[in-house]
Amino acid sequence: MNIELLTIGTELLLGFTIDTNAAHIARTLGEIGVRLVRRGSVGDRGDDIRDAVRESLDRTGALITTGGLGPTRDDITKRVVAELYGTPLEFHDEIWQVLVERFARMGRVAPAVNRLQAEVPRGATVLRNHWGTAPGLWLEDSRGIVIMLPGVPREMRMLLAQEVVPRLAARGANGVIRSRVVRTSGIPESLLAERLGDIEERVTPLTLAYLPGYDGVDLRLTAWNLPSAGADAALADGVGLLRERAGDHVYGEEERDLAAVLLDAARQRGVRIAVAESCTGGLVGKRLTDTPGSSDVFMGGVIAYDNAVKTQLVEVPQVLLDTHGAVSEEVASAMALGVARRLGVSLTLAVTGVAGPGGGSQAKPVGTVWLATALDGAVKTQRLVLPGSREEIRLRAAQAALLFGLRRLQSGARLDAPTDGAPTPA
Ligand code: AMP
Ligand code: MG
Repeated sequence: MNIELLTIGTELLLGFTIDTNAAHIARTLGEIGVRLVRRGSVGDRGDDIRDAVRESLDRTGALITTGGLGPTRDDITKRVVAELYGTPLEFHDEIWQVLVERFARMGRVAPAVNRLQAEVPRGATVLRNHWGTAPGLWLEDSRGIVIMLPGVPREMRMLLAQEVVPRLAARGANGVIRSRVVRTSGIPESLLAERLGDIEERVTPLTLAYLPGYDGVDLRLTAWNLPSAGADAALADGVGLLRERAGDHVYGEEERDLAAVLLDAARQRGVRIAVAESCTGGLVGKRLTDTPGSSDVFMGGVIAYDNAVKTQLVEVPQVLLDTHGAVSEEVASAMALGVARRLGVSLTLAVTGVAGPGGGSQAKPVGTVWLATALDGAVKTQRLVLPGSREEIRLRAAQAALLFGLRRLQSGARLDAPTDGAPTPA
């Protein structure tokens, strides 16, 4: 079954409200094998809603809308759709009584404007909303289906799960649309694609999408309209193949965060972590402490932004700063070793770089970052030249530092391996 989605609300067009409903509905439909073929947004304007609904019905014959079911003047979805179907709105006293009781429980009298919410296009199925005042509506005739849901995300989600999904699934959707994600970091999209080679042919009937972000490239495999067990099996094979080919660039699956992976790796080995951060200003520590339960592994750290903090709190010798500058392999190493000594932990991550937009030079352009990790007193370094804005450079640097720490732990057995100093653009 194919379906379209129309999210309604002027606030969506103005960009003040992020259209989270659309993403949620898209994912949910995929799970039951209903293919979302198009989605759009319009403001709270009758003509625009009417045109969009008519086009969707002509094109696809099925549409979900969200928004515009409230009691105020700008809530016109129901009226416009009823007009389009040439069906009158009828007042349903039992819906009104539910509203009256709902308000009574809050010690209030139901306002007269809410009577509008008890009006239902003739022939529509009412989708009971136990989480708010606007019921959902399912209108269907030879032209097709329009499923109207409220805009408030929580109410929309509950109605979708409890009233819409069972009805759509019962229409014999053929199979599921299901995805799995393999997360990679430390390798650009183009190099990753080279490494994966003819993978697309090997994973058919799955599709593969490359989703690059500041934290790396996610690889999303999707099974379309396969029976549930078949989809799971094909995805498991595909994930295995991706992992094999992407090798140690893979750090996790689904929404797994690299910081959580590093914390687990450290926990397993009984290692505690500390950080010394210059250009990331605490982002690495933030990432680590975003993960609940990090306190048994993460000790803390120093935001060694000014050189005075580098020398006084993490014991960077002044001579290294004078000779090589703050953004240098020598200073990054000294930061990693210094914070390890000061805090008495076995693994430290140090970051120093030029986040920009100013401060770059020919030798050290904006985006130059030196990372250092010290593991049991042995230090390794890495130089990166990261792309993007100041914010992106800082986010990428934090991610790269976490990845470097993880690699150190994973290769802990061969600590004497050559220094991994080659540039690795994230
Ligand atoms: P409505 O049902 O149109 O009265 O919408 C009520 C509220 O739900 C709006 O004020 C928004 O804050 C929120 N909302 C509406 N549509 C969306 C959407 N597509 N995504 C996220 N929030 C929404
Ligand atoms: Mg609205």
